[in-house]
Amino acid sequence: MARNGDGASLTHLPSSMSKCRVFDGRQQGESDAMASYDYDLFVIGAGSGGTRASRIAAGYGARVGVAEERYLGGTCVNVGCVPKKLLVYASHFSEDFEDARGFGWTVGPRSFDWNTLIANKDQEIDRLNGIYRRLIEGAGARIYDERATLVDEHTLQVGDERVSAETILVAVGGWPDLPAIPGIEHAIDSNDVFYLKEFPRRMAIVGGGYTAVEFAGVFAGLGAEVTQLYRGPLFLRGFDDDIRAELASEMRKKDIDLRFDASVEAIEQMEDGSYQITATVGGEATTIQADCVLYATGRRPNTASLGLDKAGVNVTDGGVIPVDEYSRTNVPHIYAIGDVTDRINLTPVAIREGHLFAETVFNNNPQVPDHRDVPTAVFSQPSIGACGMTEAEARAELDAIDIYRSAFRPMKHTLSGRDERSVMKLIVDRKTDRVVGCHILGPDAGEIMQGIGIAIKCGATKAQFDATIGIHPTSAEEIVTMREPVPDTPSEEAAD
Ligand code: NDP
Repeated sequence: MARNGDGASLTHLPSSMSKCRVFDGRQQGESDAMASYDYDLFVIGAGSGGTRASRIAAGYGARVGVAEERYLGGTCVNVGCVPKKLLVYASHFSEDFEDARGFGWTVGPRSFDWNTLIANKDQEIDRLNGIYRRLIEGAGARIYDERATLVDEHTLQVGDERVSAETILVAVGGWPDLPAIPGIEHAIDSNDVFYLKEFPRRMAIVGGGYTAVEFAGVFAGLGAEVTQLYRGPLFLRGFDDDIRAELASEMRKKDIDLRFDASVEAIEQMEDGSYQITATVGGEATTIQADCVLYATGRRPNTASLGLDKAGVNVTDGGVIPVDEYSRTNVPHIYAIGDVTDRINLTPVAIREGHLFAETVFNNNPQVPDHRDVPTAVFSQPSIGACGMTEAEARAELDAIDIYRSAFRPMKHTLSGRDERSVMKLIVDRKTDRVVGCHILGPDAGEIMQGIGIAIKCGATKAQFDATIGIHPTSAEEIVTMREPVPDTPSEEAAD
């Protein structure tokens, strides 16, 4: 079977793809159809996915217009991955200073200035915005710093201008979604948090996904008292249960107050300007005082009033645009990629979807993005890296599995004295010997997981992991030195 670079099958193209246009830049403007539109491609949204699609399509000779109403680079560059990682770095210094003592260092008085961090972060984001502009324009596409809405299936209103396009790509991403509880107006969302004017002494964070967990670590590391409230029994739903439980235990060691089974009922502003949260935690009514309340309860596709109805594009009640495997909506020349399609809402996935859309439509090279075994990292403290099936998923889907698990104190902490443990876990399909999942909790888990993601993507077996020589002394060598599976009893959480 023919496979593209992502392992996706090329042999079963839907019949509609046979109509896929061979795009030849040399013939630009020569055909009647092309001549009748202002653009061959109009992209709504210059986030990670939209930018990649624009550049690649323009590189194949397409006449491309891109509208971005807010900031080039979208969520990831402006209020997501990039600034978040910078804040994670900043927050880790508090432990680094403490850990240095065991290595003979005397660290003098230290203080932290939030405004300096935010100003430096803003400067870096400005630099990246400029790079995005140059990337798009350098490829020959035109940027409109305006909101674009659909007027009909080939026409867009872009600021004061009307433009037409043969193909349209919707890549507008998502926006923080907060529940309508009394006092929600007092909460900040996961965009606002990057522009907080003052560093809060007491931070309450509601939610249990990537963002909530990451910011709990950031604010605790920077010196705030953090309370995290999550509605379920254990945060990071969808990750390996074992790793979730270990992370909770490590975060509690850092004095982060984790409240699970917590339902927030109201937020009230007090006379001194602080906030009081009224909640039920584990069935008991309680109140929590905070100087700032961050809601990180997910994001909703940014599709409201985009005119999708005027173009006949189907949208679910939740605002998601359903697409086929080629990212095509129900309207054959309108495509959608990234968070707006709610497949796997990660930047590199949106970039891949955007790239393969452009390959398919503008290079006569139909390719589907492969959403299997996508490696991911949570920049919690300690961090998580994950790829493939969780233990619970493997137990549900496979006849028999073996679990290899190693829990240890990272070498650095033998001298730092820090009580922090790492966990590494491999899940192996006993029938095929393939490693079907890997889960890591510990420093640099994301960095380690990228390479393991390649092995899993290649279908590597446990025997091949075993045949790989470890790099000594590293934490990552545990991945190739775990010899004995753990006794075959599902963990309590996995069995639930
Ligand atoms: P997520 O959708 O990942 O998590 C939302 C969290 O809020 C879940 O714990 C959810 O609970 C909870 N929640 C949802 N609705 C409510 C509600 N009404 N009341 C209380 N709790 C609620 O959103 P995030 O904001 O964390 O992340 C947004 C997206 O960005 C994600 O898709 C993620 O993939 C991506 N991201 C990726 C990062 C990375 O790669 N490191 C970092 C940050 C974000 P429940 O689980 O019970 O549904």
